[in-house]
Amino acid sequence: MSNANRCHACGGALGKGSLEHSMVVAGHRFVAALPSVRCTQCGQESVSDAALEQFELRVSELLLESGTHAPEALVWFRRSIGLRATELADLLGVTPETVSRWENGKVAPPNTAIVVMGKLAVTRGPKREELIALLRSSAAPRPLAKTVRLSA
Ligand SMILES: [Zn+2]
Repeated sequence: MSNANRCHACGGALGKGSLEHSMVVAGHRFVAALPSVRCTQCGQESVSDAALEQFELRVSELLLESGTHAPEALVWFRRSIGLRATELADLLGVTPETVSRWENGKVAPPNTAIVVMGKLAVTRGPKREELIALLRSSAAPRPLAKTVRLSA
């Protein structure tokens, strides 16, 4: 039987702690004290995946709201979405070379690309899938009939 309330390393009792976490993205150092689980015996401390995910989401939100055009922010957004550069190029209707030039800072990315990527990065679950599906449809449009009857 596994005991989630015991330290994996020493079997000691676990308590609540707080761990300073920081991350540098696009030249900015983001810092937060994240809730952690701490072993009262050996002192081993860890932050939950959920807390880390929340931290990264907040970093994305702040970058998006700042209106940054930093190439590192684009890379951050893309990785956060879990897309390869070629997949992102397809979604945005540009060539992989274009995405590459944006990401290595050779060409300034258009603000539309940054906002779309940032919005995808801060949107999770079905809403993100919906947005990706819209980008896919727009990249490969299907003809809409001349007359379209709407269901009542
Ligand atoms: Zn321990």
